[in-house]
Amino acid sequence: MAFKIRLHKERIIMKLAEQIQQADWKKEKHVPVIECADEVKAGEIFEVKVSLGKEIAHPNTTEHHIRWISLYFRPEGERFTYQVGHYEFSAHGESAQGANEGPIYTHHEVRVSLKLGKSGTLFALSLCNIHGLWESSKEIKVV
Ligand code: FE
Repeated sequence: MAFKIRLHKERIIMKLAEQIQQADWKKEKHVPVIECADEVKAGEIFEVKVSLGKEIAHPNTTEHHIRWISLYFRPEGERFTYQVGHYEFSAHGESAQGANEGPIYTHHEVRVSLKLGKSGTLFALSLCNIHGLWESSKEIKVV
């Protein structure tokens, strides 16, 4: 009985954050790459590109592909993180003729425009349909 209770407690303390994988994007194809200026002017619109496979290509097939990328921003010294956007990649060669016979494959890359009022950190989170969650981050300075 005591054993059962202990198992239950272990399940409760499992954290999603512990399932999110990190690595060097130059060596690991699942890591999202955030590209934007290191410094931006307050209130000025700028572009952020988030992609995967910049160094090592990730497959894009019906069986193995990137489902989505989410981008977040945490202002320096603040407690909470804001979501910039969530970008779904829905077409991966599926068709009535079968897997990988379809005419369209959404590529796992997104460009978004935004403006900031404060320095902070951008976080990108991506999901591979079979290899799970991956994250990366980039500091950005508002001058
Ligand atoms: Fe994968």
